Parts: sequence; C-alpha cells; structure tokens
Amino acid sequence: MVKKADFPVKSAAGLKKRARRVVEILRRTYPDAWCTLNFKTSLQLLISTILSAQCTDERVNALTPGLFAKYRSAADWAKAPLSQVEEDIRPAGFFRNKAKNIVSCCQDMLARFGGEVPDRMEDLVTLAGVGRKTANVLLATVWHHPAVIVDTHVQRVSQRLGLATEKNADKIELELQALLPKEDWTFYSHSIIFHGRRICTAKKPDCPGCPLNRICPSASIFGTISSKGRKK
Ligand code: SF4
Repeated sequence: MVKKADFPVKSAAGLKKRARRVVEILRRTYPDAWCTLNFKTSLQLLISTILSAQCTDERVNALTPGLFAKYRSAADWAKAPLSQVEEDIRPAGFFRNKAKNIVSCCQDMLARFGGEVPDRMEDLVTLAGVGRKTANVLLATVWHHPAVIVDTHVQRVSQRLGLATEKNADKIELELQALLPKEDWTFYSHSIIFHGRRICTAKKPDCPGCPLNRICPSASIFGTISSKGRKK
C-alpha cells in the first residue's frame, strides 16, 4: 500500500509545493549534481553535447581527449573532411549524422560568429545540430544562466513526478520553468538526470529505494512501497 502523496496534485499551488519538495530532496540526495561531460571550453562542451546524443557521457569522455587534441578550434572542425570526422567520432554512434552536424555547426560559427560559440539561446539554436536542449546545456554549464535542460531523463522523470504533462520537450521546458524558481532550474535538470540514470530508470525504476517515493504519484504504478513510507 502506497502512502498518499504529501501534497495535493491538481492545483498549481500544490504542484509548485511538490516541485519545491522534490528539489529539497534532490539537493540532499545529489548535492554535487552537475554536467558529467568533461570540457575546458564552450566549443568542447558543444561538441561533447552533440556527441552525447544516444551515447553515454562515459563513452564521450573517453573519446574527447584525443578529439580535442586534434581539433582545437571551430576552424579545425569546419575544414576537416567529413569522412575523416566520421571516422574520428565513430565510437560515439550515429557518427554520420553527428559528423555532418559538427562540421556544419562549426562552419556556421565561423561564418556568423567569428568562430566562437554564441552565448544566446536565439543564436545557438540557429546552428546545425543545436536544439534547445543542447543550447540550455551550454547556457547553464558554461555561462551559468538559469536553464531547464530537457533530455530524455528530465522528460521521463518529470512526467512520472507529475510535474510535466506535455510530451514535447520544448513544452515540458516551459512547464518546469513555470513550476520551479529560476535559481533551481539548472540544479533540477542536472539532479534529475542523475536520478534518471541511477534510480528512476526508463525500464525499471526502483520506487521502493527512491527518496522521492512519498511525493511521487507514479510510485504506486512502478513499485511497492511500505505503507509507512520513507523517512525524509
Ligand atoms: S518513486 Fe519511482 S517513479 Fe517516482 S521518481 Fe522515484 S523511481 Fe521514479
């Protein structure tokens, strides 16, 4: 028997309260949650983020030291033969598409931004292969702008927590922005990504072992939880 959620689930105020409680618990559980891609420059994080689609951060981090020693600037990527880039990034998977995006993106940056990664959402999303998720990773991680990063983990876990109802990532970003204080946007994103990888996985969420189970409306769907709930 699952303990009833601590907060009302339908009113906007109730959802905001639940969102705040979620963040409190996440801060205790994952105090150091942050981007797990290794990088030293905005260009390196941009390339790593493009490579990380459908690939683990560990695999990307294993690949990038060699890549970043070879390709040191946007110009290096932009002028490289596509077939060579494909070969170099092959271990990250989907290498043809990713290579095309990386080369086009760097050509764009050379042509329009002096070879630098732009630091505004409206400019970032004009680059090949850069959607709002990648742009928000850069804005939050490099420039420390508050940003909600909606990757597959944030999408899935936010839906399970009842904090997001939309299916489209851009709309989920807006829903979460409305629920969370701005100062929590980036931490929420990184910590939910940690949580989605470790506990609230796509195939087998560990609801009995989840520190959010008392306030998660999906706990009863995915797992059996003690009627006493968990001490927070
Ligand atoms: S209680 Fe279950 S569904 Fe809810 S966040 Fe935790 S692991 Fe995910």
